[in-house]
Amino acid sequence: MHRIAVLTSGGDAPGMNAALRAVVRSADARGIDVYGVRSGYEGLIDGELSPLSARSVSSILHLGGTMLGTARSERFLTVEGRQKAISALAAHQIEGLVVIGGDGSFRGADVLSHECDVAVVGVPGTIDNDLSGCDYTLGFDTAVNTALDAIDRIRDTAASHKRAFFIEVMGRSSGWIGLHSAIAGGATDVLLPERPTDIDELQHRIHEAFRMGKQYCLIVVAEGDDAGGAFEVAQRCSEGLAGVSHRVTALGHVQRGGPPLMRDRVLAARLGDAAVTALIDGENRVMVGEVHWEVVRTPLEHTWTAVDPPNRELMELMDRLAR
Ligand code: ADP
Repeated sequence: MHRIAVLTSGGDAPGMNAALRAVVRSADARGIDVYGVRSGYEGLIDGELSPLSARSVSSILHLGGTMLGTARSERFLTVEGRQKAISALAAHQIEGLVVIGGDGSFRGADVLSHECDVAVVGVPGTIDNDLSGCDYTLGFDTAVNTALDAIDRIRDTAASHKRAFFIEVMGRSSGWIGLHSAIAGGATDVLLPERPTDIDELQHRIHEAFRMGKQYCLIVVAEGDDAGGAFEVAQRCSEGLAGVSHRVTALGHVQRGGPPLMRDRVLAARLGDAAVTALIDGENRVMVGEVHWEVVRTPLEHTWTAVDPPNRELMELMDRLAR
């Protein structure tokens, strides 16, 4: 392996820059050239590749977002688009490609690698933690902590006014951020895409919380819950909550930004390095991930076909402690 390329794709996540730095420096230490691709698969199609040195990734470790930029690419879904990407890889004599992204990016990498000789290795970079083959994806820990910081602030005002708050967190199809921020934030209830929501039951819980003497009530709502986002859930509850003062806050994109926390930085260092090692070992179509503190390689296809839902035991724990 003499020359590799690296790109970030799909939704951005804190820790992507730290992973990029690790890929570049790990390759540099082993005498491998690295090219950075701008704007994910869009940039690959347009041939936006340029060399990265150990110095070009200085002082990015602590930054959120991605210095390479990221994109969603309609063109990459077409054979013609991918052929252009393959020509760009060939023109730069790229032998291996590291893709830092989520399940969509891995699907793209998988398809690409079946159409050319370039080996692909994935690094799980998504705040949603919705990939199989790793305990945590890059950005998840930071995103949950950002949500938690907001929840703690909301608690202050909720308690002062004896209010219920519906707090929307990210997670269109994954309840990982919702469940973890609800447990860590001491929420009364959490609504997740992985389990059906019963509005009557929810209203009952909120009334019960105040009847038991609680001074506030926090309901965490994952944006993809079957009952709707936080605004819709609050609307549906409004009649049943007569007499209970309530407000809604959607945390939105603040959860994506900000400096990666320690766990994401260390994970990024480990996985960026492991991706380069995997390419050197001749691996193709695998994702590197941490499982029980060990770095493991999982076939790309398994990462989206065998997705682990949030731990049921944690859901039950959340329910037990919310009293
Ligand atoms: P994420 O990686 O965060 O899940 P997306 O789902 O938006 O982000 O996927 C990123 C990009 O990966 C898409 O814009 C598209 O270019 C590419 N991609 C996704 N699925 C496929 C597929 N089945 N075939 C080819 N490319 C794909």
